[in-house]
Amino acid sequence: MKFDHELIQEIKSRADIVDVISSYINVIKKGRRYVAICPFHDDHDPSMNIDPEKQTFTCYVCHHSGDVFTFVSDYEKIPFMDAVKKVCEIINFDDPRLHQNEIKRPINTDLQVLYNCINELQKFYRYGLETEEGNIALDYLSRRKISNEQIDKFGFGYALNDGKKAISYLQQKGFSLKNIEDIGIALAKTSGTSDSNAGRLIIPIFNTNGQVVAFSARRLVDDDSPKYVNSPETKIFRKGSTLYNYNIAKQTARHDGFIYIVEGFMDVLAFDSIGISSCIALMGTKLTDTHVDLLRKLNVEIRLCLDGDNAGQQAMMSLMTMFDKANLSYRLVSKVGEAKDPDEILKNSGSDELKLYVNSLVDPFDFALNYYKNISPLDNIDDRKKVVSHFAPMLLSIKSKFDFDDCLYKLAEATRFNPNAIREYVKSIKTNSDNNKTDDFVDYFDSNRAYDKKTLNKELRRLTLAEKTVLEQMMNNKDAISFYERNIKYFINEIYRQIANYLIQFADESDTVNPSIIMDYISSFEPENKKELLNEIVSLDTTPIEKDKLDEVLNECRNIIIEERNKTFEKKNLLKSLEGKSDQEKAKLLKDYINKTNTNDAK
Ligand SMILES: [Zn+2]
Repeated sequence: MKFDHELIQEIKSRADIVDVISSYINVIKKGRRYVAICPFHDDHDPSMNIDPEKQTFTCYVCHHSGDVFTFVSDYEKIPFMDAVKKVCEIINFDDPRLHQNEIKRPINTDLQVLYNCINELQKFYRYGLETEEGNIALDYLSRRKISNEQIDKFGFGYALNDGKKAISYLQQKGFSLKNIEDIGIALAKTSGTSDSNAGRLIIPIFNTNGQVVAFSARRLVDDDSPKYVNSPETKIFRKGSTLYNYNIAKQTARHDGFIYIVEGFMDVLAFDSIGISSCIALMGTKLTDTHVDLLRKLNVEIRLCLDGDNAGQQAMMSLMTMFDKANLSYRLVSKVGEAKDPDEILKNSGSDELKLYVNSLVDPFDFALNYYKNISPLDNIDDRKKVVSHFAPMLLSIKSKFDFDDCLYKLAEATRFNPNAIREYVKSIKTNSDNNKTDDFVDYFDSNRAYDKKTLNKELRRLTLAEKTVLEQMMNNKDAISFYERNIKYFINEIYRQIANYLIQFADESDTVNPSIIMDYISSFEPENKKELLNEIVSLDTTPIEKDKLDEVLNECRNIIIEERNKTFEKKNLLKSLEGKSDQEKAKLLKDYINKTNTNDAK
């Protein structure tokens, strides 16, 4: 696919930058603007400003800026044209022009074979459940109160006891032994290759797009083999980027406004039977940054619901740290009585009890406080102090004064310290740690802009200002571009000159120009200093000057530019002419030069 500016414009008119960015990170509405924690630097306050009118984003700290395509390209670290396609996926837009000149990459067809192979095996496992031998698996499922609907929805299957059958089935379907090894189920035996899942209940694991990529296989007879056999990592299965049931949950979570995180797949099924599909299971893996990104993309409240035992509660505490760091909003299901896990609650106490349980949500602060109260009697002063210092950063992050007081008193009660002492302590770490931070982003933004305007005329040199003014008019007007080509020819400012060159090139191919299409055009070349170029364009004031005044402004700028260029030129000549001259001669030449430039300036 090559750069087709009409198509790019069309996609852009359909894709709202706020919606698209929201599908990646949390976006907060502030008046008519939107702000977000900038994903391109280590941001703690929302420094990224999203302008829905201009359809651009700008970070006031790291100066990352651009439009909807550059955001996706930079966030996903993919080329511009791939980002265009990605945006189309997000907004559900398709067009034949998108698929022109598509190069088929051999690596993808390799992977496709594996996807096809594992998909065929999944079909074979599904068939296994219908055989007479498969009754052992069906019995197990019905004992676990799993409905037929759920069996279909989650794709449960059964691997026939004779593990050679699965292998020969796949070979009949045209897959090589290498393919079968590559999907991670081949078990080498003296009698030949066999299915490593043979005789087990099959729980397929899907990737985020809903393709089968791995299996978890459960033991159905009491022997000393492991209860679960999980597929090893393969070319198509990465534990660190897979979350059980994410493919289904992502469809419902945005509507529900939340997503539950549970430990095992049986918990996901328990949630499903009380009508909650927005639920994913960790299945024994550690949460990775990729997982966190997957959760963030949903832009919904995360609800942590791990097991009620010590290990589960401890895991929730460490996930809290991870979520705090990633700035995700979350609450936690509080442990009730002897509750162990959702699956057990459903089995022992029924669905009403489970519904009650999953809705008993507490804030991170309350959860952590309860956790400490449960594990430690807090009967010595050192432990009590430790708890206060653990909670101080949490208190600091609370914006509302009422919520702050609420938490402060809870902490004081639990640690038996005077609330005022804790308040003083929290204040002291605040003044120590972030003396210079501005809490209110709006103030920060507005004061920065005011600074720019006030000092622009004073601080920008005459030449740069004139060049900038011409460039600004070139962004929306082909006549201004022609004027530049005829009368100015080049800018001294390196960045302006580069942008102008792109403008000329683009104007050759298109009837109209505007800043947003130019940003895309530049991005499609992937220049090394793309960030700098886009940031410059976003900061330009491209408001068109009225037609009858435009010529006057352009001519005035041209005069300034030529004059300033000549001055630089003369200065260079002067320095050259001074070489090897006596002091007396030097003094005379300098005097002449100063007189000349003074009269020029007076004109
Ligand atoms: Zn930034």
